[in-house]
Amino acid sequence: MAATQLHSLFSTTTRTRTRTRTRDTSTKKQSLVITNKLGAQVIGRKLRVAVIGGGPAGSSAAETLSSGGVETFLIERNSTGAKPCGGAIPLCMLDEFSIPLDLIDRKVTKMKIISPSNLTVDFGKTLKEHEYIAMLRREVLDSFLRSRAEASGVSVVNALFTHLEVPMIASGAPYVVHYNVNGSKESIEVDVVIGADGANSRVAKSIDAGDYNCAIAFQERIKLPDEKMKYYENLAEMYVGNDISPDFYGWVFPKCDHVAVGTGTVSSKQDIKLYQRGVRERVEDKVRGGRVIKVEAHPIPEHPRPRRVRGRVALVGDSAGYVTKCSGEGIYFAAKSGRMCGEAIVKASGNGTRMIDEDDLKREYLKKWDAKYINTFRFLDLLQKVFYGNNSSREALVELCGNDYVQRMTFESYLYKRIAVGNPIEDVKMLVNTVGSLIRAKILGREMEKLALEGCVIKSRLGVITAKQ
Ligand SMILES: Cc1cc2nc3c(=O)[nH]c(=O)nc-3n(C[C@H](O)[C@H](O)[C@H](O)COP(=O)(O)OP(=O)(O)OC[C@H]3O[C@@H](n4cnc5c(N)ncnc54)[C@H](O)[C@@H]3O)c2cc1C
Repeated sequence: MAATQLHSLFSTTTRTRTRTRTRDTSTKKQSLVITNKLGAQVIGRKLRVAVIGGGPAGSSAAETLSSGGVETFLIERNSTGAKPCGGAIPLCMLDEFSIPLDLIDRKVTKMKIISPSNLTVDFGKTLKEHEYIAMLRREVLDSFLRSRAEASGVSVVNALFTHLEVPMIASGAPYVVHYNVNGSKESIEVDVVIGADGANSRVAKSIDAGDYNCAIAFQERIKLPDEKMKYYENLAEMYVGNDISPDFYGWVFPKCDHVAVGTGTVSSKQDIKLYQRGVRERVEDKVRGGRVIKVEAHPIPEHPRPRRVRGRVALVGDSAGYVTKCSGEGIYFAAKSGRMCGEAIVKASGNGTRMIDEDDLKREYLKKWDAKYINTFRFLDLLQKVFYGNNSSREALVELCGNDYVQRMTFESYLYKRIAVGNPIEDVKMLVNTVGSLIRAKILGREMEKLALEGCVIKSRLGVITAKQ
């Protein structure tokens, strides 16, 4: 339904039962006046959007909306909490999201990948002098992004979102967002809702967005004696093997004064503690004398939800399912999807002056997101299937990671989130190396058969894949 049709259905109403929290934390009555004027102009106020969840996705969406002239509410249940997370972000995110360098705990310039047989490959060899992987604590990053959103005019509401009243789409009535604040139940009427409330998204449930498979990730934060911490000063480690995970990797990531040691699995969630023991056994010597200061676990989505936009509700970040397989990376994609969704609403609403509809969200947000990233997600999904399946293929993966060209292309894609420009001769060599490693691991034939069935074409080098239409 076009925006004008939708709006011709709006009645000019004043609702008085809504209470909302303003920025000076006083509570006052507000009402949402909806217009049925031609051209779907929002009269006497700006378009009103509620963003549920103040992680990287929600804060980025909210800041973009508010800066673009939209009246924005950001509802976050835990403003001091720390999302369980490794906290590794790519270099391009620092620039793109203007993240101050003093928020970074560690600049990782060395990465070791360790195979099931303990073959170790140094994976940071090709990094240039100014290049590194930034490690941050999520409590620090999230609180910075939220404060910046608030400074741009967002009304931040410290409250637990409970449920969403979804109007009959054709009625054009407002969405009613219900939340609990300091023990009292409150609600707010809005034109548009963004679900940025993570992997267990209540917004997604409210709009029947459908389920996704999740991995479970488990992580221990271990405070190490100074001399042991020195070893991990600018070093991260990745472990693969049946003892670590049937379908993921284990990690040791350095933080300001401790290391985060963890693993994840999709297919064998009930055994996650067993796999964590596997990681701990592999790193035993390096963390001996350390003290566990925190244990945390959290789901990681495995693929996008069946529906990411419904009516005037859009999902972003983990709520939408934007975590790459193989690497488990989601922070950049959360912030980016939040920003792209915010930009879409600002554009479609003419800086908050016009009502928007489902078609606007699909065209300006979903279509652009899919065009930019869906192939990256598919490619990493494929890599996970090929290389994480069994110990032979994991040995092949580690062997390949020793290749300078593979390292350069991988880091180029990861650090800058752009398709690396390859060298055709090196591409062919890499293909030959890959085939050689996989044949040694005896898995190529099986996976190529599956690939053909899926209709996917690997486009000559790491980081690029296109699906046949
Ligand atoms: C153990 C682990 C390690 C990881 N390591 C990395 C890594 O190193 N690098 C990387 O890029 N990615 C990593 N990820 C993935 C990354 O953490 C997520 O992809 C990312 O946090 C998604 O951001 P988001 O804003 O979409 O959701 P979240 O960060 O989950 O934020 C959701 C926000 O919504 C709030 N919220 C939820 N429900 C409600 C409610 N009902 N009412 C109000 N507020 C609500 C939450 O409090 C939270 O602040 C890791 C994940 C796990 C589990």
